[in-house]
Amino acid sequence: MKVLDLQCGNGHVFEGWFGGEDDYLAQQRGGLIQCPACADPSISKRLSVPRLKFSKSDSNHEPVQPLASNAGEGKQLLLDWLDLTRQVLASTTDVGTRFAQEARKMHYQETQTRSIRGTATREETMTLLDEGIEVLPLLLPEALKGTLQ
Ligand SMILES: [Zn+2]
Repeated sequence: MKVLDLQCGNGHVFEGWFGGEDDYLAQQRGGLIQCPACADPSISKRLSVPRLKFSKSDSNHEPVQPLASNAGEGKQLLLDWLDLTRQVLASTTDVGTRFAQEARKMHYQETQTRSIRGTATREETMTLLDEGIEVLPLLLPEALKGTLQ
């Protein structure tokens, strides 16, 4: 798993999670990656720095260690990623399909701010980003979902 900082032709910076460099290149060449803010498909890569957004109450969190980018360390990379995923799962509340709803409520301070995870459709995610609500797409392996709840 590889987290890439991407930038669109209009200067918006966002993160993309890919299976690897090849995966990114294939999607980029195929025009499959679009800027979440303006849907610009001319995407270029910035430095690869994994980052996660936690709510303010989690600001004491240890900084996440950068993932190795050497392809030969694929196995370690996967283990690191699983580790990272576990940390996310442990420090967030699963709100399931109410994710967009809850994220919006927190943004407008209608409910207590906390770190949440859940599922949102592409349209919901776009709407949240339009409203200036930061969300991070994170693919969870199915195997982890059952065991860590
Ligand atoms: Zn853009």
